[in-house]
This record gives sequence, C-alpha cells and structure tokens, in this order.
Amino acid sequence: MHQVELKKIKIKAEKEIKEADSLKKLDEIFREYLGQKGILSNLTKSLSKLPKKKRASFGKEINAFKVELEMALEKKKKLLKERLEKEMMEKEWIDVTLPGKKIVPGHLHPLTQVQREVGEIFQQMGFSIVEGPEIETEWYNFDALNIPKDHPARDFWDTLYLKRPKSTLKLKILLRTHTSPVQVRFMEKNHPPLRIIVPGRVFRHEATDARHEINFHQVEGLMVDKRVSLANFRAIVEEFFLRFFNKKVKIRLRPSFFPFTEPSLEVDISCPSCDGKKKCSFCQNKGWLEVMGAGMVHPNVFKNSGLNPRDWRGFAFGMGLERLTMVKYKINDIRLFYSGDLRFLTQF
Ligand SMILES: [Zn+2]
Repeated sequence: MHQVELKKIKIKAEKEIKEADSLKKLDEIFREYLGQKGILSNLTKSLSKLPKKKRASFGKEINAFKVELEMALEKKKKLLKERLEKEMMEKEWIDVTLPGKKIVPGHLHPLTQVQREVGEIFQQMGFSIVEGPEIETEWYNFDALNIPKDHPARDFWDTLYLKRPKSTLKLKILLRTHTSPVQVRFMEKNHPPLRIIVPGRVFRHEATDARHEINFHQVEGLMVDKRVSLANFRAIVEEFFLRFFNKKVKIRLRPSFFPFTEPSLEVDISCPSCDGKKKCSFCQNKGWLEVMGAGMVHPNVFKNSGLNPRDWRGFAFGMGLERLTMVKYKINDIRLFYSGDLRFLTQF
C-alpha cells in the first residue's frame, strides 16, 4: 500500500516540477513535499505504524526519493535561472546600429559669426583686432575726431548721454555713437605704422525700423604709415569683399563728407545678390549697395592723437556689421538680429 502511494507521489512530483515555470512555483513544490509539514515528513511519521520488517526498507525508499526530489528541484531551479537571465539579456540588448537621438547644440549668433569672419580676413591682411570702451567721453567720441560742437550728430536725438555726479569731471559721458574713438585711443598709445580693425557695439538714440536699431555693431578700420593712399585703401577693401563674399564684387567710391576724414568717401559694392544686374529687390534694382564710409584721416585727428600730420598718412573706414550680414545673407530686417527668434537664428 505504501509503495503504491509513494509511486503516485513520485509521478505527481515529477509532473509538477516539469511544469513549474517560475522560481516561486518551485518553492511551493519544495514546501509541499519537503517542508516540515510536507508530504514526505508525513510519510516518515507514518513509518511507526508499519511492521518492523517493512519499516527499514520503506524508510530507505523515502530517503532516496527525498534526495532525488531535492536534486530534481535544484536542477529545475538552475534551468529557470538561466532562462530568466537570458530573457533579461535579450530585453536589455542595445542595438548600437540604431540612429541616436539628435541633440541640437547651440551655436554662435549670426552677427558673432560674421564679426569673427571679418576679423579673420583682416588679420590675414596684417591687421590687429582692437577693442575700446562702450562708454565714452565727449572728447573721444566727438572733439578728438574733429566733430564740431554744433554738428548735428551731437544733437540729443542721436546721442545717449549718461548722468554723472556733479562733483566729477566737467566732460560729459555718453554711449559711443561709433567705434571711431578707438582710433584716437589707439594712436595715442601706439606709434605707426598701424593696421587695426575695431569691432564693437555702438548706440544711437533713434526710432527702430527695418533699417535702424538703437544699438548695432560697427567694424572700424585704420591704417597709418608714411605713405598710405586711397589706392591702398581700395586694394584692401576689394580684397576684403572678395574674401567675404567669396566672389568678385565691384567697388564704387563716391565723394562724401565726414568731419574726421579728408577727403571722405562712401563705398558702394555691386549687389552680390544680382551681381549688379539691377534685377533684385535687395538692391531695389539699383545694382549697388552702400556698405561703408571711409576716407583719409583728417590732420586734426592726427594732431588730437599726438601724431604729426606732416609725418603720417592714413585711411580709416567704418561699416555696419548688421548691414554686412544682411547683404551676405539677404536679410531684409535688422530687427531680426535682436528678436531672439529661433526660427531665424537656427538658419545660420
Ligand atoms: Zn541686386
């Protein structure tokens, strides 16, 4: 009777172990058969009811089954663990050939890019980059540059003056209206020959529209030597525009007037958009674009900078960085540069 029962138990246990699909299930089987109140434990207790003769042999059978069961459970446990690990590996497997998430990094503002590009071109031509203060005195911004007291540029509408305590110097201070004061500051401290460009922010008290901003950027240039002429100036700007636009543009010099240069010139270039064919809205079908003011340094500016105008000659020029960027990239509204509009900025 006991042997038959044990055989049934064995078959049942084997089946259960075979079907177990989790470690939790295996634990349950272990408790069911091998636990303190498990089937085998009960069988062992029932041994006392058997005749002595059978007791020993049945006891052995129970022990053998116990060992067998433990081994089968251990084997299955190992198998399940391996399967689990394999599944985990498959889940966590990374396909390194899949395209990654694109990270869009920030980039330099178009004005910064163009400023650096302009700087590089002039540096290749032997110019150094020099900077000056954005807050200037009236002397450097106007007087030293030969701008008379009654010049309209000094009008309150153009210049942003700054308040200062009454006790301090008489000289008025202001936000520089151009980068030209740096010419004087540099000539005071450096002896010619000189070749510099001065990129920087300038301020004008103006209403803003598509072509005007209250603050914008200029690139000033200055070259001083014993013999410098407008021919040198022309050669240098031609070379600059060739490198800047990556193509030959025509240069047109027109007489103009600035207090700090004599003679003074307005520099036009043939429209790079239509190659001067007068066929695009950017140049309003004129074929030419105004890009620069220039001229030979006025003797008074040399004097005010501590140089003898009989010994030295030089040319100076100034151009708007925004204007230059607008021409290069065909942008029609200066306000876009300061709008912080990413749809605009990410195009560069
Ligand atoms: Zn054009």
